[in-house]
Amino acid sequence: MRADDPKLKRIEPPKLQWYEKLYLVPIAGGLGVTARHMAGVAFGDKAITMQYPEEQHVPSPNYRGVHRLNKDEQGRVKCVACMLCATACPAHCIDIVGATAPPSWPDREKYPESFVIDELRCIYCGMCEEACPVEAIELTGLYDLTGLSREQLIYDKAKLLSVFDATKDVEPMRYSKPRSDRPRETRILPTLEE
Ligand code: SF4
Ligand code: SF4
Repeated sequence: MRADDPKLKRIEPPKLQWYEKLYLVPIAGGLGVTARHMAGVAFGDKAITMQYPEEQHVPSPNYRGVHRLNKDEQGRVKCVACMLCATACPAHCIDIVGATAPPSWPDREKYPESFVIDELRCIYCGMCEEACPVEAIELTGLYDLTGLSREQLIYDKAKLLSVFDATKDVEPMRYSKPRSDRPRETRILPTLEE
């Protein structure tokens, strides 16, 4: 539609009275909200800061943090190296090298010989988790992992599997419980393999 189209309906902003132009009422309303929050923090239980790391923030069930590679009942990596997660990833931060599964794994053709995620490049969109047909990759509630170099935050298969070991008890796998029902009443500080 062009700007001079006669069908275009132009709406004029409402004319303000002189007292409305002073914006005193909205300013007073805004100050009231601020005062209410300050009173909640000072006299109630509405504190919005905490003494980290002594106190641990528990993120919501929908929070998407550091990845993990899930294991099956036999302790094997669940991933079947289908590459769907890497294809879906908008940040191109998943690198997988697939290999033929060993003969003792008759339930699959391939497995990931190498599985690397650049946690610094990831935008934590969750597309990889959504794309995976076998619930092998999931995003956990971990938000405070740190490293001394960029290389330390490029997670290989061993590290991604160690995130599973560290989180599986407090964050059940998705197929066993919908993400929205995951308990996140507690939080763990994992010790990950270097
Ligand atoms: S969360 Fe998104 S950006 Fe991160 S690895 Fe998965 S698909 Fe890629
Ligand atoms: S994690 Fe899932 S989607 Fe990604 S390669 Fe493995 S099986 Fe496929």
